[in-house]
Amino acid sequence: MFGLMMDLPLLVTRIMRHAERNHPRQEVVAITADMPSFRYTYADCFARVRKLANALDALGTPADARVGTLAWNDHRHLELYFAIACSGRVCHTINPRLFDEQLLYIINHAEDEWLFVDPAFVPKLEELSSQCPKVKGYIVLTDAAHMPNTTLPNAMCYEELLAPHATTYEWPALDERTACGLCYTSGTTGNPKGVLYNHRSTMLLAYAQAMPDVSNLSARDCVMPIVPMFHVNAWAYPFAVTNVGGKLVFPGQRLGDAAQLTRLVNEEGVTVTAAVPTVALAILNHAREPGRTLAPLKRFAIGGSACPLTVIEEFRDRHGVEVLHAWGMTEMSPLGTLNQHTMLTAKYEGERLREHLQSAGRAIPGVELKITDDDDKELPWDGKAFGSLKVRGLWVCRDYYKLEGSGGSHADGWFTTGDVASIDEHGFMRITDRAKDVIKSGGEWISSIDLENAAVAHPMVAEAAVIGVTHPTWQERPLLVIVPERGMQPTREELLAWFEGKVAKWWIPDDVVFVENLPHTATGKISKLELRKRLQDYRFPSA
Ligand code: ADP
Repeated sequence: MFGLMMDLPLLVTRIMRHAERNHPRQEVVAITADMPSFRYTYADCFARVRKLANALDALGTPADARVGTLAWNDHRHLELYFAIACSGRVCHTINPRLFDEQLLYIINHAEDEWLFVDPAFVPKLEELSSQCPKVKGYIVLTDAAHMPNTTLPNAMCYEELLAPHATTYEWPALDERTACGLCYTSGTTGNPKGVLYNHRSTMLLAYAQAMPDVSNLSARDCVMPIVPMFHVNAWAYPFAVTNVGGKLVFPGQRLGDAAQLTRLVNEEGVTVTAAVPTVALAILNHAREPGRTLAPLKRFAIGGSACPLTVIEEFRDRHGVEVLHAWGMTEMSPLGTLNQHTMLTAKYEGERLREHLQSAGRAIPGVELKITDDDDKELPWDGKAFGSLKVRGLWVCRDYYKLEGSGGSHADGWFTTGDVASIDEHGFMRITDRAKDVIKSGGEWISSIDLENAAVAHPMVAEAAVIGVTHPTWQERPLLVIVPERGMQPTREELLAWFEGKVAKWWIPDDVVFVENLPHTATGKISKLELRKRLQDYRFPSA
């Protein structure tokens, strides 16, 4: 027997309607190149979203068309998120930091019809546009006064595109499984793969993201997503915050500018923010100067790579900010787990607490986890056994775009994340490593993440990476690569001695290499692939 409840589809359109109706005066603040301090309300925003939907119709954009964005975190990008999705098209957010070949690959693979681009990316697209035959034209995200002179074919100015259109629009009644967003994985090996989000998954995650044990969002929160809007919908914050009627602050282009981010926290009263560990660390460094505070800030979601314990503790002890250590991936929209205390763990103290804080947390309701061994047998949740981490859930991808049915990482209804993890009896998951980064020494595994976390806690270390290097006896041994703090010259011996008592003796790296910088991926993570290439001729002195 079916229940007798209304059968309303889960559409992102509902989020927009609710926010406009119930929070019309709530503010959205943004920094753009043409408007250094822009501010409007949800009512203004969604009136413009309807203009934009009319403009997309007038451009002759069919249903299901992929509409690409190369844009920073600002209000126009928010308008694009809603107008493209709610009018039945697919908002394809493109990471502008990708290499040219990858940009071309994904624009052509997605068959984007129109590209909405920040003025900063116009020169790059001028170089590439002749190789993007499917793109019908380029809309530059600016006003007439700031419109650059460009050789881009069919170039238009965003504000002029919107201007003539009505603020009324009849939103289509879509099936909730209709695609609404597209984001490609960074593709460290092989071509990037497209993850195609739908209204249902996006809507469900918007609810989950706001739950108290997740980001704990309400209409009284002011949220600044620092994580780029071109990357997995800025971890769902734009949808989740709109859904609860919170204030949104968009920091624009300078997403790594700690001084500007700190200013926004204080001036706008930001209570919640989200970024990768490197940006969080930059904010901490900036805030160490006397007289600087992050007073309004309450919660900082940090994920994308393992967050060092020192970062979590400094935010807590110096600024009263609770770090929400999160784990996920593009294929999971991207939220998988998040670390918030339970009644039990809130009582932990000392070493037990420090251990616990390094966990990436429990599965967010809607996501299931399991760990398996090499024979695909499930491993116990005892906090010790570690194996291949698999997930399934309400916002986890089933197949990649245009690779449907290829199986691979999606066989048997579970998605193989490529991460190695342990899970304790209370469901707290700890990432040991990326499967391809884990160091195999004499048949045992060493976690590069744990060694890196220990290394960055050293006062003379600015950034650290650990990679496995071939060893004649042990198969692989860990090599520590560090960027010293400016003006500091730690020695190899004192760095290696630092690990004593912090990790098992046989985990201690065999050698240290000092570098001026580490290579990063387009999403700001240390690129181990590139680092291994740089150090391919390295051999251990003992070997
Ligand atoms: P994103 O760029 O949003 O992190 P990707 O799909 O590019 O998404 O990368 C996902 C991978 O990043 C995960 O599979 C995992 O290896 C790593 N990762 C994400 N969060 C964490 C975390 N908290 N701790 C350790 N690794 C993490």
